[in-house]
Amino acid sequence: MKNKLLKTVSDCKNIFFNAKLLLNYIKGEKSGKKYFVYKFSQSIISALIPLILMTLPGLLINTLSREEFALYECVVYLGIILVLPVLNYFINVFLNYQLKKVTQQIELGIDINFYKHIMTMDYEVYENPDIQINKSRSLSALSKVWSVSDILFGFITQIISLLTVILVISFLNPVLLILVVFFSILFSIIKKKVNKSLFTLDQKGSEIDRRMWGVTYMLDQQDYAKEIRLFNMPDLLLNEYKRVKEESIDLNMDYLKKQNVPNNYNSFLELVQNIFIYIYLVFNVVKKSMPIGNFAIYLSYYGKLEGVLKGFLSSFLELAQISLNVDELNQFMKLPKKIHDSGNLHPNYSKGSIIEFRNVSFKYPGSDIYALKNVNISIDSNEKLCIVGPNGAGKSTFIKLLTRLYSPTEGIILLNGRNIAEYDAEEYMRLFSPVFQDFVKYYFSIGINIALTADYDVNKLDRIMRQCHLDSLIQKLPKGYDTQVSKWIDPEGIEPSGGENQRIAIARALYNEGKIYILDEPTAALDPNAEYEIYMQFNNMIIDKCAILVTHRLSAVQLADKVAVFNNGQIAEYGTHAELYAKGGIYTEMFDKQAQFYRNE
Ligand code: ADP
Ligand code: MG
Repeated sequence: MKNKLLKTVSDCKNIFFNAKLLLNYIKGEKSGKKYFVYKFSQSIISALIPLILMTLPGLLINTLSREEFALYECVVYLGIILVLPVLNYFINVFLNYQLKKVTQQIELGIDINFYKHIMTMDYEVYENPDIQINKSRSLSALSKVWSVSDILFGFITQIISLLTVILVISFLNPVLLILVVFFSILFSIIKKKVNKSLFTLDQKGSEIDRRMWGVTYMLDQQDYAKEIRLFNMPDLLLNEYKRVKEESIDLNMDYLKKQNVPNNYNSFLELVQNIFIYIYLVFNVVKKSMPIGNFAIYLSYYGKLEGVLKGFLSSFLELAQISLNVDELNQFMKLPKKIHDSGNLHPNYSKGSIIEFRNVSFKYPGSDIYALKNVNISIDSNEKLCIVGPNGAGKSTFIKLLTRLYSPTEGIILLNGRNIAEYDAEEYMRLFSPVFQDFVKYYFSIGINIALTADYDVNKLDRIMRQCHLDSLIQKLPKGYDTQVSKWIDPEGIEPSGGENQRIAIARALYNEGKIYILDEPTAALDPNAEYEIYMQFNNMIIDKCAILVTHRLSAVQLADKVAVFNNGQIAEYGTHAELYAKGGIYTEMFDKQAQFYRNE
């Protein structure tokens, strides 16, 4: 019993602790203080005004029922009774307006922080599927900030009302007080139990929903229509539909029945409670000549006591529910930024710089298989390296490690003899101009899409557009570089074709000139000739730069100084095209197979 009590106390502590953590997101914003002042004033006002309005009519009745007529008292009571609601209304209009204003400012700040966190966390962490799930739950916890604040400030209102009501009622009869408190707690316990069983019904409900979705999809999608007719399947599908629907009906009725349980008990509890209260009050008026106004006051105070107590307890249950989510949010916001917190050396990449992979192995988080195994390679500052190999060989993984999106599991990567982790991550990453296979388009103007800044150099952009054969596209557009990408956002915008998108991605890499260019199969969707064309153009544009060209086709190898053949996460062969071809290994085999294919074509 004692242990159980201790656990309850520590649970409560934890719930309030989590609520406070959530409020810290509000507190951390510039308008946070204002918000709390408004919210606090609102709680006090919402406690006091109803109490005053509950009491005054009773006092007025008492004054009126006295022998001598007290004009002054009557006028004061009446005045307050009439004016207070109007005053209350205007105060609330003012407070709600102010609260809406600061709430939106605070929300903006919180959102920006959250999205910034997402966009700057280690890519390695970001890509982890567990983290993705965690992220959406954290976002939902964050959206509960306002409910938590409402509940906590609601507590202030409820506590003030509760204390006042208890004080007044205990003058009359503490026994009745205990009765109301006892019944309210009983109601909350029943409600909590029922909530729990409703939760399991909810889970069963979503399982049924999923099955329902499946059946109705088959019933009425064109893909199924042919087979349904030819295999005569309507009965099979309709029987399943009927079965699922019947289960759903049963569940709904069950839900309704369970949901009503607390209210059923409650109506009975209320009946008993009211019998006691009325008998007692009538007895007091008749036998002990209690003023008739007090009868009215006590009656409304008992009503209030019951209402506030139940409200208080159910708010607490809600808070406990939210608290579960907050733990997750906290873990999420504390995810380490390993890469961003590391090193502060300035990378100096110039002629003669060397990047070296030394015994580098890598496993993806949660995987037992090495995506890269014992990779050793050096890349010079003016070298064109071509990485070839079948799908899944580890080529893109190599690029991710090189660009520091991931860190090696074993071994190190060095730039000019220093571990790349020792360099400032942002500066290190800016050495690269990558074009990935899954390059993206940004929903900005076409100019920003390439320059990645609103403040771009038009001459430089013109030059690059010509190099990438995009100048004719721009010339066709009335708004030029200001044309929005995607008609979805602006009906006058453009939808670049697949090939144009590719060129835009390449132009982006060229505009944001880095020291090291990377093409990781951005042209995989093109036919080999078109791919070769693009690689060659690209090669001509970056003559004295370092470039890494990744492909599983071999047409680009003629452009490269060195070729690395990746296979099963390892560099199987390395050298110039001529050396490798002469060797008669995997490379020769791959090359001949592809060459044969083109010849046959
Ligand atoms: P390539 O670019 O040569 O086609 P990748 O480097 O993309 O190959 O993939 C190498 C291996 O790592 C593959 O077996 C692939 O399934 C696995 N892999 C790639 N990305 C991930 C990831 N994010 N999580 C887990 N495994 C991955
Ligand atoms: Mg790849």
